Amino acid sequence: MRIVLLGPPGAGKGTQARRLAESTGMNHLSTGDMLRGEVASGTELGLLAKSYMDRGDLVPDSNIISMIQIHIGDPAGVLLDGFPRTVVQAEALDEALKQAGTPIDKVVHMSVDTDELIRRLSSRALCTDCQTPYNLESSPPAVPGKCDRCGGAVVVRDDDKPEAVSNRMNVYRQLTEPVLHYYRSRGDVVEIDAIGTPDEVFAKLSQSIGAGNSGRPSN
Ligand code: ADP
Ligand code: ZN
Repeated sequence: MRIVLLGPPGAGKGTQARRLAESTGMNHLSTGDMLRGEVASGTELGLLAKSYMDRGDLVPDSNIISMIQIHIGDPAGVLLDGFPRTVVQAEALDEALKQAGTPIDKVVHMSVDTDELIRRLSSRALCTDCQTPYNLESSPPAVPGKCDRCGGAVVVRDDDKPEAVSNRMNVYRQLTEPVLHYYRSRGDVVEIDAIGTPDEVFAKLSQSIGAGNSGRPSN
């Protein structure tokens, strides 16, 4: 199964993709997580990516496409989170999947209104080791600053600071919304209203991809 999760920054793609991967066994491919991993290990790609990411700009298509390409054909199935983010990336994905003989099964669009997105992003934090997301208001780690799962440091991302957030919203509108239209023109986009608790959204998401809505209990 190949699933693309689309939605603005703060829609909850990472949270939901992680849970869905656990309940289905699919491979969660998050380009954001991969890039943060490159930054943390100080690779050449990481050094290049960091300047774009901190401003809330996109990392160049060519870097992203070569980074993700080898994972696309994973026989366990893939859940794409944060990719494709431009029409060029969407076309590259189509080409890669055509070669692998595994077309996209579902494109899911998670929508949330802008005020709620900004509210969510301003209270969001992330484990620097295992990337588990937290909301400092509604679902903070049990011990402040410490990841429930792995004990790693839970911090606010540089690109969740206010200036970067507004740039990311603009970038989403200008470069990523066209990806939504690209898929809609082929008529295969499932719409999910991503308002509600993570459990409620997860139930809608599981149902929409036909994975049942049992999933896992909260957290
Ligand atoms: P969010 O969805 O909350 O904006 P991500 O973790 O998906 O966050 O991405 C963080 C940053 O990583 C983006 O703002 C961008 O700089 C970079 N990035 C992630 N995925 C891509 C991609 N497919 N193309 C270009 N840049 C990307
Ligand atoms: Zn962790």
